[in-house]
Amino acid sequence: MTSLFTATDDTPKRKQTSPESESSSIGGPQTTVSKDDASRRKFLQMAVVGPVAGLATAAGIEFLAPRSALAQSLLTPEQALEELMDGNNRFVNGNLTSFEQDLAILRNHTSELQQPFAAVLACSDSRVPVELIFDQTIGHIFVTRVAGNISTSEIIASLEYGAKVLGANVVVVMGHGSCGAVDATIKHKEVPGQISALYPHIQPAVDKAGTDTDAVSKANAVIQADLLRKSSTVISGLVDDGKLKVLAAFYNIASGVVSLLE
Ligand SMILES: [Zn+2]
Repeated sequence: MTSLFTATDDTPKRKQTSPESESSSIGGPQTTVSKDDASRRKFLQMAVVGPVAGLATAAGIEFLAPRSALAQSLLTPEQALEELMDGNNRFVNGNLTSFEQDLAILRNHTSELQQPFAAVLACSDSRVPVELIFDQTIGHIFVTRVAGNISTSEIIASLEYGAKVLGANVVVVMGHGSCGAVDATIKHKEVPGQISALYPHIQPAVDKAGTDTDAVSKANAVIQADLLRKSSTVISGLVDDGKLKVLAAFYNIASGVVSLLE
């Protein structure tokens, strides 16, 4: 919008394809972009036809996703975690980059293959949009969501698939502030239908942490992460081999900050 008031200056304010900007401004300070990456981006731009082409030309110079989507298996668990936390930092500071990537190219690129570098178990709560708060896009993170972010058999099966088959290098089990499922469990609320089926999974955290909702949410994330590690031989095997980290975290819905709990 500011461009309306700076019409006399035709110089684009944002990134150009110069080598300096390629290395300094894409994907945060830690990321440098190799010539191979730059070539691949140009190739992908050229491969796009029709109305999307203009978008790709405008946004393509910041097209980062295939690098991460393809290179995930090269990431260590520590690097995968860093990539997630860097994304949360961008989210908190309002410097999102995921929306600058061309979704049509990404869909095409990942239509037959996904290689997410991370997996997340989060609550179904509408205030916890996982890709958004980690500033990630199509193909980057394998997400399981269930109210109370509990490690049920189906969730464990899904995360085994994400880690063992797809190759995610880190699993983050993330509770959040003001969680309705946790609050209902603490108060043993009368609820319709099968909602109370969640309670037994969350009760151990209540027993441990008391009646403060956020304290129980944090305890629950730690317990569910531990359960995931201990009840899955697939997950524990990957952890023992140093190929996977399983961590508990807490998402502050007011500040947007994800904090590691362990
Ligand atoms: Zn919740």
